[in-house]
Amino acid sequence: MSTSSNSGLYREGNEWVSESSGKRWVAVIGLEVHAQLNTRTKLFCACEYRFGAQPNSQICPVCTGQPGSLPVLNGEALELAIRAGLALEGTIAERSKFDRKNYFYCDIPKNYQITQYDEPYCRGGGISLESGRRVRLNRIHIEEDAGKSTHTSGNFTLVDLNRAGVPLIESVTEADMDNAEDAVAYVTALREILVYVGASSADMEKGELRCDVNISVHPVGEAWRTKIEIKNLNSFGHIAGSIEHEIPRQIAAWETGDPERYPVQETRLFDAQLGITRSMRKKEGEADYRYFPEPDLPPITAPYNRVEELRSLLPELPAARRARYMTSLGLSAYDAGVLTASHDVADFFEACARLSKEPKEAANWISNEVLRAISGDEFDAQNIDELPIKPFDLSELIGLLREGVVHSNGARQILREMMKSGKAAGALLLELGLQQVQDEGSLKAWCAQALQQKPEVAQQVREGKEKAVGALMGLVMQSSKGKANPQRVRELLLQMIAESDVS
Ligand SMILES: [Zn+2]
Repeated sequence: MSTSSNSGLYREGNEWVSESSGKRWVAVIGLEVHAQLNTRTKLFCACEYRFGAQPNSQICPVCTGQPGSLPVLNGEALELAIRAGLALEGTIAERSKFDRKNYFYCDIPKNYQITQYDEPYCRGGGISLESGRRVRLNRIHIEEDAGKSTHTSGNFTLVDLNRAGVPLIESVTEADMDNAEDAVAYVTALREILVYVGASSADMEKGELRCDVNISVHPVGEAWRTKIEIKNLNSFGHIAGSIEHEIPRQIAAWETGDPERYPVQETRLFDAQLGITRSMRKKEGEADYRYFPEPDLPPITAPYNRVEELRSLLPELPAARRARYMTSLGLSAYDAGVLTASHDVADFFEACARLSKEPKEAANWISNEVLRAISGDEFDAQNIDELPIKPFDLSELIGLLREGVVHSNGARQILREMMKSGKAAGALLLELGLQQVQDEGSLKAWCAQALQQKPEVAQQVREGKEKAVGALMGLVMQSSKGKANPQRVRELLLQMIAESDVS
């Protein structure tokens, strides 16, 4: 239960209770997510698009809407869109069409956007969240992005058309969510799937994934009320923050009992600094956009055979992989989550688990050592594929560890060298002199020496402080230059102390 600041509301599960009226309210949330498709060129022209390029350096007559120019559909964009639709369990239409959405704004030089209105290329589908909730998709359509306008303090506006004509898919959910946590979980899962199938890089910081939230509130058991849209949310924090602000705001407005102050159908923006939403404009009705079929483009065709071929090429999706890692490989939910966060890592792990036949060991080494190495600055790699180490190398190292040839500290040292040089584990073992000393004679001699140096520790152990043995182990590891097997040293020390007690 959490209380919202100064609104006189508190939350119980997914219901909001008003302290003044005692009414219980619920929210209804649907999401529209725009994702940029991973194509080399724009949707209807051959311009490339690179984030951060010089303004207006990636434009041509088509994407700037010059008279006489004609759009041609980018086939790569269509295939990526279909892959996304299939991965989201949607039904791909064999035939769909483009429409013009007419509106006037400085960043849309044609005065219309090419989108899909009443015949989207994909219908249905959805995502099952880990919470068990199913979020259904109504549709996915393909459309072009607008340019970017920047309003300056000098009372003029700068327009950059690089982004105009960049291919997007817009996925529209049913209003199946009622809280911020589910909305964030949905966008997280959607993003993961789009990245997995290669449809989008979905980098939110570059604006490659943007979310609009449709949200209304009503008392439990009553009819749905006015829907409000919050536009252009480009981080998980903003999605959660805007919903958490908007629910109490709308409830408070309804609770005034004053129709003048009731929420009206409108578009709002999230002010991340203040954590509030603000009215941007009254929402246009669909009639205001005067949609009509795009006369310059033929209908989109997605032949059944090609769609089925694309379906057969889809990789196993992250949720399915996670479930398999937990049930058939015995990994924890946490490890399964870490390893499936990216396609490359999951592939690396599976190869390593197969070669070493020790999935849990492989999971530990990858999530604790390899991924941590990539996240720091020490290695010149951003992802696992950029490291010189291959699954075979790691499985060889796991084998050396299993056979007791090297102990875990030595193995860690070998792994770090492997990630730098790409040398084989066996070669590094010899080169670094990390073979574990297994001969009991030497181990016993070192232990005896340690006991002699610190006789008081043996006494403490006899008195029941078994942990004190660590001090002796440190001495043995020093004498052995780190090559003794710590587990065996511990056993020997305890055994020798017990024996000396008897004598
Ligand atoms: Zn162009």
